[in-house]
Amino acid sequence: MSNPTDFNEELDRYKKVERYNVEQVDRIASHYNDILSAIGEDPNREGLIKTPERVAKALQYLTHGYDVDAAEVLRSAMFEEDYSQMVVVKDIEVYSMCEHHMLPFFGKAHIAYIPNGHIVGLSKIPRIVDAFARRLQVQERLTNEIRDCIQETLNPAGVAVVMECKHMCMAMRGVQKQSSVTTTSAFTGEFQNDVTRSEFLRLITASLD
Ligand SMILES: [Zn+2]
Repeated sequence: MSNPTDFNEELDRYKKVERYNVEQVDRIASHYNDILSAIGEDPNREGLIKTPERVAKALQYLTHGYDVDAAEVLRSAMFEEDYSQMVVVKDIEVYSMCEHHMLPFFGKAHIAYIPNGHIVGLSKIPRIVDAFARRLQVQERLTNEIRDCIQETLNPAGVAVVMECKHMCMAMRGVQKQSSVTTTSAFTGEFQNDVTRSEFLRLITASLD
């Protein structure tokens, strides 16, 4: 919280967590009550009494990206600037849910762009990752949506997105490949050029020490 803007953002995010749509929570909770019975549980035993409501609230938070206009988040902090070198934001935490099993997938995103007259406040890059990740997703589409949003809003000379995630639907069920990581990538403009793309890949794999 280094400046007032960051503070406001923290405040917003905090409010978001606490602001539930009561009608939607009730509706989702009643379905989870049925689901508990369907898997052979007793929804009335003590430990489960409030579970449908908790799950409904958690689910609402985990899908709050539907309510966020990612392009607007970027537009709210775009500045004219005569800087034309690569800007890289790496190791952005990603938490999402696969649309096939509604199980979590999570990992890291590394994003770069080459400004073309405009730069964007750096804290906005993780926020747009969150806006698209907090929905039911597949990693491939998530990667492309982030790339397209930056390209279409900021109109830079190029955008690069690399994402590395572990999928709980792979780790906990089916093939049980517990340590496998799925990598996806998407590039536009100058990043389609080998030299530029290699520089980006070198930067995201380099450590600072
Ligand atoms: Zn899945």
